[in-house]
Amino acid sequence: MYRTHNCGALRMADIGKEVTLSGWVQKSRDKGFMMWIDLRDRYGITQLIFTEEKTPPALFEMARSLGREYVVTVKGTVIERSSKNDKIPTGAIELEVLNMEILNISKTPPFTIEDETDGGDDLRMTYRYLDLRRNPVQQSIIFRSKLAMATRKYLSDTGFIEVETPVLIKSTPEGARDFVVPSRMNKGQFYALPQSPQTFKQLLMVAGLDKYFQIVKCFRDEDLRADRQPEFTQIDCEMAFVTQEEILNTFEGLTKHLFKETLGVSLADFPRMTYDDAVRLYGSDKPDLRFDMPFVELNELAQGRGFPVFDNSELVVGICVKGEAENNSNKDIKKLTEWMQRPQIGAKGLVYVKYGQDGSIKSSVGKFYSEEDLKAWGDKMGAEKGDIVYVLSGETDKTRKQLSELRLEMGRRLGLMKAGDFKPLWVVDFPLLEWDEESERFHAMHHPFTSPKQSEIPNMLNGDHETMKNLKADAYDLVINGSEIGGGSIRIHDRALQSKNFKLLGFTPEEAEEQFGFLLGAFEYGAPPHGGIAFGFDRLCAVLNGQASIRDFIAFPKNNQGRDMMIDAPSIISGEQLEELGIDLALKEEV
Ligand code: ASP
Repeated sequence: MYRTHNCGALRMADIGKEVTLSGWVQKSRDKGFMMWIDLRDRYGITQLIFTEEKTPPALFEMARSLGREYVVTVKGTVIERSSKNDKIPTGAIELEVLNMEILNISKTPPFTIEDETDGGDDLRMTYRYLDLRRNPVQQSIIFRSKLAMATRKYLSDTGFIEVETPVLIKSTPEGARDFVVPSRMNKGQFYALPQSPQTFKQLLMVAGLDKYFQIVKCFRDEDLRADRQPEFTQIDCEMAFVTQEEILNTFEGLTKHLFKETLGVSLADFPRMTYDDAVRLYGSDKPDLRFDMPFVELNELAQGRGFPVFDNSELVVGICVKGEAENNSNKDIKKLTEWMQRPQIGAKGLVYVKYGQDGSIKSSVGKFYSEEDLKAWGDKMGAEKGDIVYVLSGETDKTRKQLSELRLEMGRRLGLMKAGDFKPLWVVDFPLLEWDEESERFHAMHHPFTSPKQSEIPNMLNGDHETMKNLKADAYDLVINGSEIGGGSIRIHDRALQSKNFKLLGFTPEEAEEQFGFLLGAFEYGAPPHGGIAFGFDRLCAVLNGQASIRDFIAFPKNNQGRDMMIDAPSIISGEQLEELGIDLALKEEV
């Protein structure tokens, strides 16, 4: 038998028991006459003790021969430790070893397998199975499992059914590139991996399988960042005969339940904000509301006073940072201005007004504005003595994005984005379409199946170009602490309206038919009104744990180049394989 207990189980109450444990040697300390070994498994660490006095010499020798990560089974007696470790649950006891068997040896691991490791990212990814032995990483994976179980239970208990949708499909338009898979049996033809099960879940609604969910892998070939992976997981859901209101309530319920189950945190009802307000007040469709610091527009007060930079700007807008006037010297502000001028942000400059404790008002644009003027800005912004106001100006969208970066940076610097503080928000009323100046085309803001608001349908069918730019959709995002956790919409379920949307998005009728004929066809057989949402499951894990990166919550993640360092993928395939797939034939024909 390998074990009577695991390595995290034994306590004072077990003293005197004879037990068997199995695990990995994390580290050992040899004092000559006495030796300790930390034995680890996924449940914890138990200290083993060997003494000259009690341990038979052969066994002591065997203990000395153990290297890091050797796998052993030990049998022994639980005894009380003389110096206890209150940092671990088994810290009051140790195991006096009577017998030991080495089950396997190990090469010296390339990095230390402890809570804190010396391994760099790439090395840990190459040996992910060793990194996964580390407690913090294991806890993340265990957390993920709990979250998935709690999700399934909640959705199943509220009448949702889990349906698997295919992985080898045709392109789904979620706005990224597809990963494609060549077909051997249909040479020169390719499947696409789903960017999401969007069209299938809609077809399930046409099929009458109301209340669908799936915890599902999605694949998007896009540039990667810390919170993006080429394959990621969604909690994907769809319901029939629903309004936006019902969807928001259902998934607010799920979110609250998950926070309660996994963290014991009770969330209050989620506030809602329109997309337009989010952008106007925070410069972002995913504002972090752990702190307020809203934007205040100053066009009326700041323009027409002879300061050309502001006079020539579409937008003059600022934020008020509480109590920071005295903490920022001119040198600090110069540094901050340079930070804002980096190409990543691209601000031209940064105007400040300091409202001193002594009632003084100092500003970088003091030459152009009277104290009266600057006082009026302060009043509008709610600035009090001791506050500093930062103002940016320029083209509206750009300026808002830049100020949003500044707002977040202030939040970070002032410690306003506290871990363990959760501020969920529904952002609603997204625009239906987005005009892209470069390609001179409309893009779907969410995806092409999103329905305009009922009241907008006549505008969508008959409106001019300007009207199209302003159409609002029944589309919503769930944002928590500045991260987009979920997004969805009420869908179009009418063939004519869907065709019109494809047309607006620049598809010819033939292209629409070729790519989405199956869906348009289904809409002719009694499609019910329907809508849904998808949560980014990896990101939800990360946000619940206050982490920026989703990687630790994925057992085998890819690096920023989209590579799996461990199995070394993607990789080249043989000429034979290519030929069998008809790929070289296809290429030759192209040439
Ligand atoms: N398929 C959408 C997405 O992946 C979610 C939805 O509209 O339900 O973002």
